[in-house]
Amino acid sequence: MRISGPRAEEVLKDIFVPCRPLNRFVSHRLYYGKIVTSQGQTLDEVLVAFMKGPRSYTREDVAEIHCHGGSVVLRQVLDLVLERGPRLAKPGEFTLRAFLNGRLDLAQAEAVIELIRSRSDSAASLALRQMEGTLSRFVHGLSERIADSLALVEAYVDFPEEDIELPVVDQLLADMGGVVQEVERLLDTFDSGRVLREGLSVLILGRPNVGKSSLLNALLGEARAIVTEIPGTTRDTIEEQLVLGGVPLRLVDTAGVRDTSDPVESEGVRRARAKAGTADLVLLVIDGSVAPNEEDLLAYRACSGRPTILVVNKADLGQVELAKPFCDLTRVGVSAQQSSGIQALQQAIVEKAGFGSRTETRESVVISDRRHREALLACRRCLAQFIEQGQGGASPEFLSLELQEALAALGQITGETTPDDILERIFERFCIGK
Ligand code: GDP
Ligand code: ZN
Repeated sequence: MRISGPRAEEVLKDIFVPCRPLNRFVSHRLYYGKIVTSQGQTLDEVLVAFMKGPRSYTREDVAEIHCHGGSVVLRQVLDLVLERGPRLAKPGEFTLRAFLNGRLDLAQAEAVIELIRSRSDSAASLALRQMEGTLSRFVHGLSERIADSLALVEAYVDFPEEDIELPVVDQLLADMGGVVQEVERLLDTFDSGRVLREGLSVLILGRPNVGKSSLLNALLGEARAIVTEIPGTTRDTIEEQLVLGGVPLRLVDTAGVRDTSDPVESEGVRRARAKAGTADLVLLVIDGSVAPNEEDLLAYRACSGRPTILVVNKADLGQVELAKPFCDLTRVGVSAQQSSGIQALQQAIVEKAGFGSRTETRESVVISDRRHREALLACRRCLAQFIEQGQGGASPEFLSLELQEALAALGQITGETTPDDILERIFERFCIGK
């Protein structure tokens, strides 16, 4: 249990009885003792620590009580603390205070949520690097370069009769052109960053009864989806998560694509196509022991244009020769039922997702957050306008405005210019106590 604020020490002293007499807490030291009510009833045997601000998570005075963790004991100790005046923290409030007190900037605070939520090693290490300030430092570097140019432009704003000298204009354009390049490089990392964070969405598609659910189970290594012999029993989609080669995957098993009276308009096909459109990767499953039919072709069409791996299932029943268009796809033969070929398929998924070769995400600055991407896009827009206007000989006032907006856009990433309602929304995503 954690208490943050100016009265933290007082509250702790009030309820904690140390095993040896104690005048005051030495900061950052663990003390052994008991939590005792004002009536003298012992609630728990605990370790406590007091951390004097600003050397604490929130930069305020913080008291920590390490209880035995049973829910009743915890509740009793919590009630005792609340009786002394503190109130319950809102979700993310500790981190919000750390942000407001300048310990973390916004990008770092957001990384705390990501770290807590990360589902794979690579997502965690991405979040950790952002928490340590990699992204913030990079963005600050860009901001400084823009601010330097802004100072230069501003020097001319006060002398409206004077044009900016040509060599200065050239210098400005070159500098901001350089910043645009850096912003673009960062924007390019979004796809891999997003996949690390949210997971790669993999859609399992195919006509009924080819073994989609069996494949999902084989990939998961446990029977969670219900496998039956009645075609079309996967009514709704089933989503499962797993980590492959350090990459989190969201596997979605669809209802089978099937032919209806009007195949083009058929609901299943339409839905499948819509889903395929948002998937990072499609696993198109066919029954390899029989020749592909019309329904297989429908499934094929639903995923056309998306990165696709053809999973030729039921290898245990023998395999027929594949004709166009199926033979043109990246292909892996498996038997979902006997769980054979699954490793080769996993390998193909990781490769197709492009993660076999992606090592740059280990050290370099990567963005994974849509909010950060929006901010960078806005910054790039303003800088592009600055360059265009600068080439057209616009007045210093106009130029100054574009640079100010570009700076404000970057400031949204680190939180300097982020509106309160957005801050609120960001910290709401935390759980209580973080
Ligand atoms: P879905 O409708 O595409 O999800 O297909 P299911 O996973 O429900 O499987 C349909 C039927 O095919 C079930 O009877 C499975 O046992 C069978 N099946 C699935 N994979 C294989 C396989 O690799 N080999 C064989 N022989 N049968 C399989
Ligand atoms: Zn199924």
